[in-house]
Amino acid sequence: MAWTRRDFVKASALAIPAAAVQSTARAQQPGAPGTPAAAPPAPPVFTPLRRNVGIFHQRGGTIGWLLNSDGLLVVDSQFADTAPNLLSGLKERSPRSIDVLINSHHHPDHTGGNGVLRPSAKQIVAHARSKENQRAAAEKSQAQVTLPDVTFTDTWSVTLGDETIRAKHWGPAHTGGDASIHFERANVVHLGDLLNNRGYPNVDAPAGASVQGWIRVLEQMAPAYPADALYVYGHAEAGHPYIGTRADLLYQRDYFTAVLEYVARARKEGRSREELAKVEVLPGFEHFGGIKARLGLALSVAYDELAQVG
Ligand SMILES: [Zn+2]
Repeated sequence: MAWTRRDFVKASALAIPAAAVQSTARAQQPGAPGTPAAAPPAPPVFTPLRRNVGIFHQRGGTIGWLLNSDGLLVVDSQFADTAPNLLSGLKERSPRSIDVLINSHHHPDHTGGNGVLRPSAKQIVAHARSKENQRAAAEKSQAQVTLPDVTFTDTWSVTLGDETIRAKHWGPAHTGGDASIHFERANVVHLGDLLNNRGYPNVDAPAGASVQGWIRVLEQMAPAYPADALYVYGHAEAGHPYIGTRADLLYQRDYFTAVLEYVARARKEGRSREELAKVEVLPGFEHFGGIKARLGLALSVAYDELAQVG
């Protein structure tokens, strides 16, 4: 199904817009009798949040954007087939080219559209390990990727008009190269995949992820931003918003703490790593959605981390 118009959602400056809480799941269209109908592609949706900062959804990780009279900055690029819709939607709003594209981390649902945005983007910025991970993944899969041209290891910032945007790396968590991106005056923080709202988070150990690191990152980050900061999440389960508050960060911290405690107990009981990899339910977090195998993955990574310390 082709979408011929952009869907700009009007939202109040403070309320969480309805589009940010809607599920990405779409109703199935009726197909021919006996044939399962394919779900139509999700439409591109722009949602303003506050003070010229907003989000874009279609498929893949949530994109963040800032558009003011002096600058256009984009966080993440989704996929090569959805990035053109982001680009054309932005062009309808402003003739500006993209001053900065920031990649929150290297995963292809956040960087797959880099090549589409590249001709319109003056620079692409990412954490140094994000670039390294993206290059390594591309070599493995022999995929064509567009790498960042500016990297940082701790923080990176830019001021566009009356807004300052600061990217910060907090340590190993979802990967070894994650950044949170704070729009300081709007007080909106794009978290990339540092938070998956009520979905099993992916602990990408080969890319430098860490269960214990992720707990530390969430604990350090939560009080470091203003109490009324709005957080943008890379992914959210149906019925849960793409934007939320500090409490959501601590809730995901609680999930990883439960993972770690579960593994510590299992090790005492002599259960194996292979057994933990098959676990499908974590008590207290039965309602989590998304890819179930990621629980076993988190437990296995936690097992390796605890085995290292004896
Ligand atoms: Zn990711």
